[in-house]
Amino acid sequence: MNLVFLGPPGSGKGTQAARLARELGIVHLSSGDMLREAVRRETELGRKAGEYISKGELVPDDLMIEVIEENVSSGKLGGGFILDGFPRTVPQAEALGAMFDRHGISLDKAVLLRVSTETIFARLKGRAAQENRSDDTEEVIRRRLDVYEKQTRPIEEFYRRESILTEIKGEGTPENVFDAIVEATA
Ligand code: AMP
Repeated sequence: MNLVFLGPPGSGKGTQAARLARELGIVHLSSGDMLREAVRRETELGRKAGEYISKGELVPDDLMIEVIEENVSSGKLGGGFILDGFPRTVPQAEALGAMFDRHGISLDKAVLLRVSTETIFARLKGRAAQENRSDDTEEVIRRRLDVYEKQTRPIEEFYRRESILTEIKGEGTPENVFDAIVEATA
């Protein structure tokens, strides 16, 4: 099973992607986790990406595409995967498609979690209190939602045109949302 998960920050896609990957025994690749780990370890990628992350901006496409290309080329996605947080822009989605073509990989579905702005705010503020993430302040949350609308929303249409977009209502309990995802991807 080869999936990408889409949805605004706070839609629950990270939690749901991790759980589904665990249950299916496939790889969960979270671009946000990879970048935060690079920042923490102070690698070259971390140094380049850190400032964008703390401002709520996207890391530049060329840098992000290179990171994903390394993962795709490594062969570790061969047994199935969920990409979580990538692609985030139309150029990233196009580059991903080209990479998959080169490696003989095809995407089964793009799973989109739909959640209202009010729910997102409530969730992200709760997470800010718990996890102390540098990008969960109110100002940065607003910026990230704005970035999602402008730069990420268009890839919903990109996958709709490829006829692999599956929309899930992300508002219920985590259990209900998970069941809906399992049903939609079975
Ligand atoms: P996330 O945990 O997916 O919400 O990502 C946290 C932050 O990492 C984002 O706000 C961006 O700054 C950066 N990031 C994660 N994935 C990408 C991506 N595909 N393209 C650009 N920036 C990204």
